Amino acid sequence: MNIKKFDSRFQILPIAKIIQENATTRTFVFEHNLGGRPGQFLMMWIPGVDEKPMSIAFADEKEFWVTVCAVGDFSQKLHTLHVGDKVGVRGPLGTHYKFRAGEHLALVAGGYGAAPMYFVAHEAVKIGCKVEFLSGARNKDLLLYSEKVLGLGVNLHISTDDGSAGFKGYVTQLLDQIMAAHPARHGGRLLQSTSRLSETLASSAQKIDQVFACGPEVMMKAAGQVAEKHGVDAHMSMEKYMKCGIGVCGQCAIDDSGDLCCLKGPVMSWGYLKKLPEMGQYHRDAQGRKHYFFKPLAK
Ligand SMILES: Cc1cc2nc3c(=O)[nH]c(=O)nc-3n(C[C@H](O)[C@H](O)[C@H](O)COP(=O)(O)OP(=O)(O)OC[C@H]3O[C@@H](n4cnc5c(N)ncnc54)[C@H](O)[C@@H]3O)c2cc1C
Repeated sequence: MNIKKFDSRFQILPIAKIIQENATTRTFVFEHNLGGRPGQFLMMWIPGVDEKPMSIAFADEKEFWVTVCAVGDFSQKLHTLHVGDKVGVRGPLGTHYKFRAGEHLALVAGGYGAAPMYFVAHEAVKIGCKVEFLSGARNKDLLLYSEKVLGLGVNLHISTDDGSAGFKGYVTQLLDQIMAAHPARHGGRLLQSTSRLSETLASSAQKIDQVFACGPEVMMKAAGQVAEKHGVDAHMSMEKYMKCGIGVCGQCAIDDSGDLCCLKGPVMSWGYLKKLPEMGQYHRDAQGRKHYFFKPLAK
């Protein structure tokens, strides 16, 4: 894997290629040796607009990719740029997913989380890991990276909320089924299987060693709970409002630990995250105001 040391200097880079992934999402390819490990991010700057954190969707010695969904000022402006236009890039930054040769990984992706999870899968298969790649979306038109993932030769499991492709339901329900079919061993005892299918598979299936998740926070919380139910460690990539990305501004401080997401994360363990009062509950905006994922219950 191509690893470079922490670097917070800007590189001004031309966009080498743009791939339209779906109606609202594009991948921007830069021909530059950025370095970086799966789960790390970079800061992308459009002068006069903003600077925002973006996950590294792929990186090798020749190029790196960033996959961006157009939702607001910065991302919509990025979508108006063309091949040859330049942006500022700082990185790679933050923590990354850790895995060992031969492990069996369940990668759970929602929305543009499929892009950084693709990078995990790409690096994991290189060292002989077995990968279950779970990709969830509201409907089939919003699924991302399916062909790229299939190109890696890993097991792709699709879910859609409306059933227009794959399993009908949430990707975390699918994770629960797959984990039941690959039970972890505890003290030499198989965990309780939840279905006949899982009992049939249990004898031959290689247990899942780790669960990694990237996507909406509520989905990642559910993925952590499913992994814990099956006795398996989980790590997930947290998305907090970041301004500097290098621990200077304090914008991405996590309640109540005070840890900075840009330094302690973005990839953090479920064991740490599950204790946080904000996990799956709310996020903060540029002014630090709380926005609840669901309306809080009236007291
Ligand atoms: C570590 C990290 C990695 C990230 N990686 C990526 C990535 O790979 N690709 C990517 O597209 N974005 C990524 N983001 C989010 C990105 O940094 C911006 O927040 C996002 O592009 C929105 O910025 P904006 O200025 O376009 O919209 P804003 O003006 O900030 O937001 C516009 C509206 O969209 C909402 N919104 C903001 N972000 C999202 C979102 N992600 N999904 C749905 N609604 C949203 C806001 O609440 C607001 O209502 C990452 C964030 C972090 C912290």
